[in-house]
Amino acid sequence: MIVMKFGGTSVANAEAIKRTIEIIRSRLDKKPIVVVSALSKVTDALYKISDSAKYGEQTMAIEIIDKLRVRHAELVDELLGGCACKDEALKALNIEFDELQKLVEAVIVLGELTPRIKARIISKGELLSSIVIGHALTKSGIATCRLDARRFIVTNDEYLQARPIIAEIESHTPAEIESAFNSGCKAVITQGFIGATSAGETSVLGRGGSDYSASLIGMAVSASAIEIWTDVDGVKTADPRRVANTQSISRISFEEAAEMAHFGAKVLHPLTIEPAVMKNIPVYVLNSLNQENSGTEIVNYDDVEDGVKSISFKEEIVLMNIFSPHMINISGFLMKVFDIFAKNKVSVDLISTSEANISLTIDNAGSLDAVCASLSEIAEVRVLNDKSQLSIIGKNVVKQRSLISWAVTSLKNTNVYMISQAASSDNISFVIDRNRLDEVLQEFHNYLFEYKSL
Ligand code: ASP
Ligand code: MG
Repeated sequence: MIVMKFGGTSVANAEAIKRTIEIIRSRLDKKPIVVVSALSKVTDALYKISDSAKYGEQTMAIEIIDKLRVRHAELVDELLGGCACKDEALKALNIEFDELQKLVEAVIVLGELTPRIKARIISKGELLSSIVIGHALTKSGIATCRLDARRFIVTNDEYLQARPIIAEIESHTPAEIESAFNSGCKAVITQGFIGATSAGETSVLGRGGSDYSASLIGMAVSASAIEIWTDVDGVKTADPRRVANTQSISRISFEEAAEMAHFGAKVLHPLTIEPAVMKNIPVYVLNSLNQENSGTEIVNYDDVEDGVKSISFKEEIVLMNIFSPHMINISGFLMKVFDIFAKNKVSVDLISTSEANISLTIDNAGSLDAVCASLSEIAEVRVLNDKSQLSIIGKNVVKQRSLISWAVTSLKNTNVYMISQAASSDNISFVIDRNRLDEVLQEFHNYLFEYKSL
């Protein structure tokens, strides 16, 4: 069995769904379990509906629901025209829409939106898309069973950021899936993102949670592979919007991908595929618009080679210098400093200390004023707002000695405020002036990925 997850853009409209169906057809011999997201932008619309209901904006909420009804009905027309299954699909869609409308009306009457009700609202997107795509698959000649993910994705009761209960999922999923295949289905379709508590109440796994669903299902059935179908050629060597001539990374470890995710390089959130990778199931990130491209394979750390995989950056970081002569030979000073950060819920990224100085970076300057005020009572504080962080990421990059000497030489025209390479053997980071970022990014990329491959 394999799991194939299709994100919103792979199921955005009739054309995309037809393409998706052909991709599934090419995998029928592997018994595909298809995990779908909502049609693109539908989950955003559902969030909007739940907010409108919460604030009593009935007209707005109903207007958005009606738009969603039209969009799904048009899709059914395009995909299922001339099929007896069309009425069945419309009927199933209507049941979901009617319930959605009732939920919204109840929220408006009560004037209160609980997480439990919100989860029921925002989970509708996947329920709707799976109805349309499930029928479209069957119509195209692929006998498909549609399973409600709430039967096996068991979660705790944090309805909107629900944590999966792995043991329960492992015990429920295989039987459900196997009985679907045994009943003659050639493919199984289910919803990403959604699950249910052990009491059977709908929950969701958090935004972007469909990848997580795919990974959990893959783990539970010991799938031979998990394919995450998106609209880009896998994970790239750098952000293609900022760097010219980026390449797809063919193979990367889950740990390296996690390092990259901290920089917002979010083709998918690697933590969500952890269950699969831990069980040694390879995960492929593939492009439904460019099937020729072999995408990126995400595997266990031990199964990748050492070396640079990507250049990432955080453009807007804050660099803080904390100076205090009291630090010299006094224990407990660092504790005081970090206590202030903790109390203000500001998370610190890179840190470097010397005898009387602490330099650190913060990437979300939320309650920085409060932090500075408290720090000023025990030290001199200087905040620099015009810096960026650039990182070279890859397994054991810190062991590549020539790399660091090359990097330092190539930064000869750039002020470097901090270098960090100890925290992880997979990341070397530099803090530089923001106005140098683009140039340095490109230079690093050229050297590490272009000249080297010549
Ligand atoms: N539809 C959900 C979202 O937009 C889950 C997903 O697509 O992964 O967040
Ligand atoms: Mg996604």
